[in-house]
Amino acid sequence: MRVLIIDDSPQLLAVAQARLVRDDHDVAVADGGQAGLEAVRSLKPDLVLLDVDMPDLNGFDLCRQLKSDPELQWIPIIFLTGRVETAEKIRGLDLGAVDYITKPFDAVELRARVRAALRTKRFQDLVIEHAHMDPLTELPNRRTLSERLGQEWARVQRRGGRLSLIMADIDHFKRINDAHGHAVGDRALKAVAEAIRAQCRDVDLPARYGGEEFAVVVPDEPAAGAARLAERCRAAVEALAVPAGGDCLRLTASFGVSDARSAPSAQALLEFADAALYVAKRTGRNRVECVRQGG
Ligand code: GH3
Ligand code: MG
Ligand code: MG
Repeated sequence: MRVLIIDDSPQLLAVAQARLVRDDHDVAVADGGQAGLEAVRSLKPDLVLLDVDMPDLNGFDLCRQLKSDPELQWIPIIFLTGRVETAEKIRGLDLGAVDYITKPFDAVELRARVRAALRTKRFQDLVIEHAHMDPLTELPNRRTLSERLGQEWARVQRRGGRLSLIMADIDHFKRINDAHGHAVGDRALKAVAEAIRAQCRDVDLPARYGGEEFAVVVPDEPAAGAARLAERCRAAVEALAVPAGGDCLRLTASFGVSDARSAPSAQALLEFADAALYVAKRTGRNRVECVRQGG
């Protein structure tokens, strides 16, 4: 895990770095508050050791800036200070720091406090990861989809560009559960998830939307491009053979595609893709349907 030490004293940086690399942490240093802020933004460290008294930007102000940035607010901070007054410690902790170390520090204690903070950070990362993933298919879940769709929507509003959305729903899935049981149904869901994921580019976000429904956020593409991706997904699902008690189970899925240019909001983008999916279902299933202009 990566630790960033921010201090205006080169001696302290050298000593603290030398102590911490002994625990196999990846240790970076920044000389002063302003350099520290830039280093946090570019390195996204797992822990920041932050000096309070720095001439250009003091540690409390830097801490405030990090805590008000949604991308950086969860990075734990340990304050380093030469001052020992309780009020000073309380101020740092109330700004959101996880711990406090007074200078001159004891090297063994410093290492132990860093290890403790990194243990909590590891747990925090795991919780965040789990909160964003569907445990059955290991695809991003609906929460991740909403967050990413919101970001992509905002990007298109700000800077223009294209954005499309695919909704997919397995055809007659209830019959599969009824005929083969839920364990086979689960296996089929995993196989469909993998088939969809395999067709996506790195920038696309495939997600499990709900039960047997999937969605893909497709940045930089109009509906026609997303429809080509959906068609590849459709063919990949049709080609699956899921083992089911000696037999091989075949299945299909239907797809709806919508385009940000014809939607007034991110929510409408979802609704239009869902409406197109409904048309695909009504007109025979195992099809890709694009939303008509204006929904
Ligand atoms: P249609 O072609 O119209 O989509 O028909 P369908 O049977 O796929 O649609 P319906 O919505 O009636 O049924 C969805 C089924 O998906 C019902 C539910 O039991 C099943 N399902 C939802 N989540 C899971 C899951 O996690 N595991 C399994 N095995 N089944 C699930
Ligand atoms: Mg279905
Ligand atoms: Mg459904």
